[in-house]
Amino acid sequence: MKYFGAHVSASGGVENAPLNARKIGAGAFALFTKNQRQWVAAPLSAAQIDAFRANCEAAGYRPFQILPHDSYLINLGHPDKAGLQKSRQAFNDEMKRCELLGLDRLNFHPGSSLKEIADEECLSLIAESIDLALEATEGVTAVIENTAGQGSNLGWKFEHLAYIIDRVQDKSRVGICIDTCHAYSAGYDLSTAAACERTFAELDRVVGLKYLKGMHLNDDMKAQGSRVDRHAPLGEGTLGLEAFRYIAADPRFDDMPLILETPDESRWPDEIAQLYGFAGEAGPGTGI
Ligand SMILES: [Zn+2]
Ligand SMILES: [Zn+2]
Repeated sequence: MKYFGAHVSASGGVENAPLNARKIGAGAFALFTKNQRQWVAAPLSAAQIDAFRANCEAAGYRPFQILPHDSYLINLGHPDKAGLQKSRQAFNDEMKRCELLGLDRLNFHPGSSLKEIADEECLSLIAESIDLALEATEGVTAVIENTAGQGSNLGWKFEHLAYIIDRVQDKSRVGICIDTCHAYSAGYDLSTAAACERTFAELDRVVGLKYLKGMHLNDDMKAQGSRVDRHAPLGEGTLGLEAFRYIAADPRFDDMPLILETPDESRWPDEIAQLYGFAGEAGPGTGI
């Protein structure tokens, strides 16, 4: 079965996210478990945790349909010690929040060398950061997202993801999330079914599709290989609809959160319905 959704608002509290997801007919959702632009947040209260779990249950969301995203401030491959330490602390806290909410995965951007250290050194630091987070938590998989490769951000090549996973000790709790816009901007062709076939075969060969724990479905405002991260509504970018038809029809992408991060929220209900249409499925509808 397919689980399409979007990165919904958790404003007013995490417990609102599943309700916001249900309103747009989503079978999956992403959320921030804290303000993504701040380093520290108040701990989740027992009442919030209970309300989140109850709302997920009422709206029919199980952990594998939910893909929390960490703060944009975190850089797990930070070249300086203090910056790295701060990022690791914040990431462990986010992993812990997921654990408390009963969630089983946390999506994050791998990190950036800030052009101060070699790529391999940065990727090794990221792997070490993941090890530390896995040691400090239970039951939550660290899900590395591929990036568009803007600036000195790593993770735009499938080989970067493989390099990190190779160095993580507990491979049962590390995974990947492929963002279609990021992959296309990084140079991977997804514009036709044949191109998707080749790109996902390469992903399987280099990293292994068994590590795939979710996807971000975004069209791309920029050209293939631009290395720029700008999402477009489905069918309105340079990527076009073929990639989304391909993913919707392919059972290798069943049973994981497939999340829109497209710019116009008012279009999410239609985009979700369109994706369920491509899959030949009805979707969950908007009522609880
Ligand atoms: Zn993304
Ligand atoms: Zn992006």
